[in-house]
Amino acid sequence: MRCTSCKSGNLNPSYLDKLFRAHTCDNCGGNWVLIEDYVSWKENNPEHEFVAVEVESVEDSDKAILCPMTGTIMRKLHISKDSQHKVDYSVAVGGVWLDKGEWELLKAAGMAGSLNGILTQQWQTKIQDEKAYQTFESLYLSKFGEQDYEKIKELREWLTNHPRKSDLRSYLLADDPYSAKR
Ligand SMILES: [Zn+2]
Repeated sequence: MRCTSCKSGNLNPSYLDKLFRAHTCDNCGGNWVLIEDYVSWKENNPEHEFVAVEVESVEDSDKAILCPMTGTIMRKLHISKDSQHKVDYSVAVGGVWLDKGEWELLKAAGMAGSLNGILTQQWQTKIQDEKAYQTFESLYLSKFGEQDYEKIKELREWLTNHPRKSDLRSYLLADDPYSAKR
């Protein structure tokens, strides 16, 4: 099998971390993992604890990678909300491409034990929601400043949970709540 990432190496049968079956590129050191191999290993080794290792900076390319088995474009999936890194996933065969160092990155992020979980729509949606939250939070922080942001958050929470919230909101937003004119 040819490596579709560096396009010049061969993917040779290997064991990732001496744990489960994979294919490793003899040129770029990337790994191709079939999720069924990962899951069946995990089922047989439920107690396995992953040891996080020092991770050197891992290059993350945004380029599309083709599935080495089918030649179709793989999907980019987020690892976690705190990581910019994405892994490439072939929906067609249920395989994941990990660039050199990305497995170590997964271990450091505490995600090595849930590689199959990363691939689920629920997980990806959750990460996207969290990322959106972070984006808005930093936007509000820079717009309002820390003090006012805290204040308005408190006010909003109080208002949202109040049984008379729509009356309170009208009062708050009216130019003059004591004027008969609208
Ligand atoms: Zn390669």
